Amino acid sequence: ELRDIFINFFERRDHKFIPSSKVYTPEDPSLLFVNAGMNQFKPVLLGEQKKKSLFTNVRRAVNSQKCIRAGGKHNDLNDVGHDLTHHTFFEMLGSWSFGDYFKEDACKMAWLLLTEVLNLSPDRLYVTYFNGCPLNNLKPDYDTREIWKSIGVNHNRILPFGSTDNFWEMGETGPCGPCTEIHYDRIGNRHVPEQVNKSLSDVVEIWNIVFMQFNKVSISQLEPLNVCHVDSGMGLERITAVMQQKQSNYDTDLFVPILSAIEEISKVGPYKGRVGEEDTNGIDAAYRMISDHIRMLTVAISDGIYPGPKGRELILRKVLRRAVLAGIEKLQTPRPFLYTLLPTVVESLGCAFPEVELKQDEVMEVIKESEMAFYRTLDRGDLIVRKTIKNLAGNEFPPEVAHKLRLQNGYPLNRMLLFLSQEKLNFNMMAVDSFKKQSSEKNLNKKSFSFLDNEEDRSSLIHSFLKQK
Ligand code: ATP
Ligand code: MG
Ligand code: MG
Ligand code: MG
Repeated sequence: ELRDIFINFFERRDHKFIPSSKVYTPEDPSLLFVNAGMNQFKPVLLGEQKKKSLFTNVRRAVNSQKCIRAGGKHNDLNDVGHDLTHHTFFEMLGSWSFGDYFKEDACKMAWLLLTEVLNLSPDRLYVTYFNGCPLNNLKPDYDTREIWKSIGVNHNRILPFGSTDNFWEMGETGPCGPCTEIHYDRIGNRHVPEQVNKSLSDVVEIWNIVFMQFNKVSISQLEPLNVCHVDSGMGLERITAVMQQKQSNYDTDLFVPILSAIEEISKVGPYKGRVGEEDTNGIDAAYRMISDHIRMLTVAISDGIYPGPKGRELILRKVLRRAVLAGIEKLQTPRPFLYTLLPTVVESLGCAFPEVELKQDEVMEVIKESEMAFYRTLDRGDLIVRKTIKNLAGNEFPPEVAHKLRLQNGYPLNRMLLFLSQEKLNFNMMAVDSFKKQSSEKNLNKKSFSFLDNEEDRSSLIHSFLKQK
């Protein structure tokens, strides 16, 4: 319903509905996954679109874009499950002006939709504007501050922020510009500007309106665009939580059915929605992680990405394995379990994205196969760990075995550590790292980072590579 309200609101204001693109754009190597609604419009924003492009003559657009933030510049993977607002896959409700209206109309329309169509109280809303960056010679965006005042937003609810929050960039290069954001206070009857942009679940960012004015051509070089554009994005899951008066995205229509399906197959539960220290054994985080990851896997696989050994495929494999481990280690799920959640996910996403429904059987098969392969990896690894422990002379686990397990078999080190702590054995992580370094160097010669199983490994490796150069 919210998706339709958003799209209809902008369609009535002459915005053309453009369907969501796939979650990856093979033609743009600067991106692992589509991380925002504007990605498919990048050539339009940069004035590079071909004459016969789908978007010729489109001056205003609207849609709900499938986004994934699990790699590259926008990577929320490590927050997912641990907080209540970040997902690997989410829908971004987007509206655009390509060289048409600019700041004033964009702010007016957003305010109208939130306060008069969705009836949110202005006392619950905060807006932000860019306060400049002398380093890059970027001036504060006082125009936007004045526009919000003229719309009637209370001046102490208009807050300045720096580049991290209020200068939006698609990636290391590409279109960018200052932005203004709208945040919602879930508690109300108070004034808490200090809680805005603090990643607290009580005050949540819902909508970002970017004024595309530059093309970032290198880390330190911004080129002004000939024409200015508006690019806005609101998280569907977050605005749904706001409208359903929930503290957590996971308590909305979008996630409750999936969490219930997980409860049915888990021996541990039910889901209680606890976070942080209250969630002592990480049970609720595991529920959240699985419900998030299965949505991501469903959407990505139905768009044609399969779990595999490198690039975005590796990220899919990693996400699948995280979900499987959360299930078997925290919730005592049966083997296999992940693929059985597909029909529930399809029920929720199929109406907006028919491809998800069309590909349901194929996606189930891919997930089941990958799950089974991972169980084989785990069983093989468990056996090697147990055997090594049994034949151990001292009380230190041999680093070369740990290294081999991880490198060749993709066996999770954390799982091995669990065995070792049960047996009160020592383990020298530095020694494993030195093996890792050696093989990294060997692999660098082959220009491949693909065997590495996590982002940290990758960035430290790339760092050392650059240092060497
Ligand atoms: P945050 O500061 O909460 O990480 P962001 O500033 O990175 O969000 P934007 O890049 O401005 O997010 O994206 C526009 C909107 O998309 C956000 O206002 C939010 O509603 C939504 N959004 C962003 N990241 C996520 C995510 N990982 N999961 C769900 N919704 C998201
Ligand atoms: Mg973010
Ligand atoms: Mg933000
Ligand atoms: Mg933002």
